[in-house]
Amino acid sequence: MTRYVSQEICKAALTTWGKQKQLMMLLEEMSELQKEVLKNINRNKDNVAAIAEETADVLIMLDQLIDMYDIRDAVGQQVAFKLNRVKEYLGIK
Ligand SMILES: [Mg+2]
Repeated sequence: MTRYVSQEICKAALTTWGKQKQLMMLLEEMSELQKEVLKNINRNKDNVAAIAEETADVLIMLDQLIDMYDIRDAVGQQVAFKLNRVKEYLGIK
């Protein structure tokens, strides 16, 4: 499965800040992205740059979560399975 953050950086971040801090950071970044999406939809705000920035933050933290729990293969399998299901639903071959 594609990664945005190298294993080296994920490891160093985990060693430097620890699992709990990094998981809390993931939740914080997800809530920041959620907030920007809500502003875009609810208040018609022109904040695509902020959405891009917060999406990057979440992707960076997700790579760390995946490494922390050693679930890269399992996540890859779930993504493939779920995308297949969506393709079937949408009638895409
Ligand atoms: Mg952020």
